[in-house]
Amino acid sequence: MDESINIIGAGLAGTEAAYQAALRGIPVKLYEMRPQQMTPAHKGSGFAELVCSNSLRAYGMESAVGLLKEEMRLMDSLIIRAALVARVPAGGALAVDRKMFSDYIEAELNANPLVNIVKEQVLTIPDGLTIIAAGPLVSPALSESIAEIVGGEMLYFHDAIAPIVAKDSIDMEKVFFASRYGKGNGDDYINCPLDKEQYQLFYQEILAAELYPLKDFEKQKLFSGCMPIEAMAACGYDTMRFGPLKPVGLEYQGKEPYAVVQLRQDDAGATMFNMVGFQTRLKRGEQERVFHLITGLEMAEFLRYGQMHKNTYINSPLLLNNALQLKQRINLLFAGQITGVEGYVESAACGLAAGINGALLAQGKEPLVFPPLTALGGLLRYITTATGNFQPMNVNFGLLPPLGQKIRDKKQKNLQIAERSIAELISFIAANPQAFNVIS
Ligand SMILES: Cc1cc2nc3c(=O)[nH]c(=O)nc-3n(C[C@H](O)[C@H](O)[C@H](O)COP(=O)(O)OP(=O)(O)OC[C@H]3O[C@@H](n4cnc5c(N)ncnc54)[C@H](O)[C@@H]3O)c2cc1C
Repeated sequence: MDESINIIGAGLAGTEAAYQAALRGIPVKLYEMRPQQMTPAHKGSGFAELVCSNSLRAYGMESAVGLLKEEMRLMDSLIIRAALVARVPAGGALAVDRKMFSDYIEAELNANPLVNIVKEQVLTIPDGLTIIAAGPLVSPALSESIAEIVGGEMLYFHDAIAPIVAKDSIDMEKVFFASRYGKGNGDDYINCPLDKEQYQLFYQEILAAELYPLKDFEKQKLFSGCMPIEAMAACGYDTMRFGPLKPVGLEYQGKEPYAVVQLRQDDAGATMFNMVGFQTRLKRGEQERVFHLITGLEMAEFLRYGQMHKNTYINSPLLLNNALQLKQRINLLFAGQITGVEGYVESAACGLAAGINGALLAQGKEPLVFPPLTALGGLLRYITTATGNFQPMNVNFGLLPPLGQKIRDKKQKNLQIAERSIAELISFIAANPQAFNVIS
């Protein structure tokens, strides 16, 4: 009989891994510690909870994360299926109603007779075939148990969450609906226009605002892909206007505003909107004071305040092989953000690979190494071979080998790389029936 797999953590990576392993007929024990033991960022007990933004980022294949989604869809990803079911309007992005998304995933796994859900915290790494998908906010006890195995190779950085406001508290007379360049339905975002004076005041006040301190003062490592808004402001007067507050592609009263704060729908009922790019470490009272300066948000009710958290990951290039197995214990795999991939989609994609490989190992077969010409293969190759100071990584076209020819138009170039990746993945699937013949 095939071995069963322990999967620790029912987040983005763990749920996808459990689904993929069960799809291949392998029994899974999926451990989740919430709600008994919460993390500093999760709010509830739901599976695959999106802790900050409700966006899984771009959907088109001219973006690397769009390509990664398409690759996952071709491999029957549960996370992508759930996202398409729970989709809310968000221009060119794939954003979801986070509750509907989580409920869909949980219902699918609950209904699967091969998935045994165990609602408890895992304190020490179990014996037997195991996938650790406990995320960047892994519980302290398990973190210690991992540290015992990996020695000093546990790393960390700091990441932040953006606030959510109640739609009915926004002054709709002062804001406008639009998507940048009319993408999506053309009116997917609520836009709060700022004139020069308003922007200047906002800039001054955000710089002067009080922050929650980081505990490790001597080592303040921030993840640049998710920079807090106040850290961005500290880089210079215009940095926010070239970042999340950029006005390009938006028009209000016949002209481009000086700056724009965008709010994205967060739930299917469109009652909650999150502040795009406003991850922050400002104290709560300061968030009220400073963010109330934004046009239309003068009376905004904060349903969730921005926060900052320490994220843990392992030094994967030293510790993991390219099939996500711990080199020193090959029946122990790691998946998700704890490996140093960054982002919801990347974490789920890593879970997909670990789930397939876990199933192959359970059947006594060789695990797969995904081809480096695919977005998934490029990402996994990076995290398992990077040199120097290892930092978390979002998927991007730089992880894929360049095309043989020069194409000036960036979108066209990306689309050709994406086409090449999809062709490569299709051949890879065909060449590995032992791993994929479960998928019709
Ligand atoms: C504060 C913060 C904000 C972020 N914002 C974004 C964002 O906006 N967009 C984005 O793309 N990515 C974001 N990320 C990064 C990343 O994409 C998410 O953290 C993502 O959820 C990672 O997926 P995962 O499956 O690896 O971990 P998680 O989704 O966190 O899942 C891990 C699961 O393991 C459980 N667990 C932990 N320890 C144990 C244990 N000992 N026993 C049993 N269960 C355990 C946890 O409760 C959790 O459910 C953010 C991360 C953080 C921390």
